Amino acid sequence: MAQISIQQLLVTEPKSQDVEVNGWVKTFRSNRFIALNDGSTINNIQCVVDFENFDEKTIKAINTGAALNIKGKLIESQGKGQDVEIVVEEIYVHGAADPESYPIQPKKHSLEFLREKAHLRVRTNTFSAIMRLRSALAFAVHDYFQRNGFYYFHAPIITGSDAEGAGEMFRVTTLDEKNPPLTEEGRVNYKEDFFGKETNLTVSGQLEAEAYAMGLGKVYTFGPTFRAENSNTSRHLAEFWMIEPEMAFYDLSMNMDLAEDFIKSVLRYVLEHCKDDLKFLEKRLLDEEKTKPQAERSEMALIEKLRFVVDNNFKRVTYTEAIDILRNSKPNKKKKFEYPIDEWGADLQSEHERFLVEKHFKCPVILFDYPAKIKAFYMRLNEDGKTVRAMDVLFPGIGEIVGGSQREERLEVLQQKMADLGIEEEELWWYLELRKFGTAVHSGFGLGFERLVLFVTGMGNIRDVIPFPRTPQNASF
Ligand code: ATP
Ligand code: MG
Ligand code: MG
Ligand code: MG
Repeated sequence: MAQISIQQLLVTEPKSQDVEVNGWVKTFRSNRFIALNDGSTINNIQCVVDFENFDEKTIKAINTGAALNIKGKLIESQGKGQDVEIVVEEIYVHGAADPESYPIQPKKHSLEFLREKAHLRVRTNTFSAIMRLRSALAFAVHDYFQRNGFYYFHAPIITGSDAEGAGEMFRVTTLDEKNPPLTEEGRVNYKEDFFGKETNLTVSGQLEAEAYAMGLGKVYTFGPTFRAENSNTSRHLAEFWMIEPEMAFYDLSMNMDLAEDFIKSVLRYVLEHCKDDLKFLEKRLLDEEKTKPQAERSEMALIEKLRFVVDNNFKRVTYTEAIDILRNSKPNKKKKFEYPIDEWGADLQSEHERFLVEKHFKCPVILFDYPAKIKAFYMRLNEDGKTVRAMDVLFPGIGEIVGGSQREERLEVLQQKMADLGIEEEELWWYLELRKFGTAVHSGFGLGFERLVLFVTGMGNIRDVIPFPRTPQNASF
């Protein structure tokens, strides 16, 4: 007898055939009805037990959380709420779960509580739905790029380059604490961290991806990325997954087209393939919204919101236009922005980004042509000499989901920029060589995978869309 998943069982035609399933008990009602789930679907299969056929020890072991193997007959359900059920003939208890101490009870737990139980929270409906969606999205990411002529490129995790120059890097060290290399002044010489070299965990695979795009044409990375963010927001993790496509012969406008098409395509994939999980999360969100005042409730339900993004053009706006709008706006009648925008050149805060998306344009926005001063050194300088061909994609409820740009392909301009910022050519000699040998217009962007998962699941905190979140106060799991 082949073991099949509960997801498959639930769509099997019931003909009293023999079936076998494994799973964890969600609930056990009246010593008679086991709701069993194996992680393959949000829905449980109901297993009907005639307890007189089983010894007391077995019946006692059937508590929420226990792992069981059940053999029985699949029949049309007698009750409401499900099409099929199993009439149980044999039960094998893989492992019991003590009802006194098992933390995941059928009641609703707070997300904060579940973060403390990161190893067990996937047993809840909410987290199993999120993690199935996360998996489906990851598949859709690869599927999109592979279908569109991109090669999957593995950027190094340990690297000597700081792509963003933001200094948010985790140092990798092999230093012998008792006998560290010293500088002339007698301090520990961190420049000799990694067997004599200074190295860090990657903050972005972009620079290396550029090298590979300038040979393979179109590449993408999709891997773990590290930032020593000490900001403790609901949008930042110290370890997150980033998707970074990089394309030779693409200018900024082609880059924007790609970002929009890519996001829409992966959303379409989950709308089509993850209906039950999305419906479950939508319902969860609606219940949560009911507890909020009317004004704070969102105008669209989750699935409608995803459809809206798929069906409408993203609004493309220059930084300069955005600044004009922000200068003449207030987030609401009474309140001003916490950080008022006074002059051209200021960096946008998330309150500004969210205002543009949620209140002003009411759709995803691509902001582009930012002041050179607030963006990284490698972005293509525009003819005005002041702005660079940068773009950020801003999403409702999220803020920045993508940061990208056309890259500076001209050697002299890049050298000048690095000199202005005090970046030594020696550090990036190989990056400069890409401009010496067959340089070309090229572009790319980085999309934070967890921010995408946040958007798709409607969750409010990035800690709840990655299995084991790493944040400043929490990396113990
Ligand atoms: P933010 O302004 O939100 O701090 P950023 O501008 O520092 O983001 P980029 O360097 O542009 O981020 O990285 C590209 C993308 O990676 C961002 O658009 C975002 O989706 C994601 N990202 C950046 N930092 C983090 C983080 N600490 N945790 C999760 N995702 C992140
Ligand atoms: Mg940042
Ligand atoms: Mg940013
Ligand atoms: Mg950015």
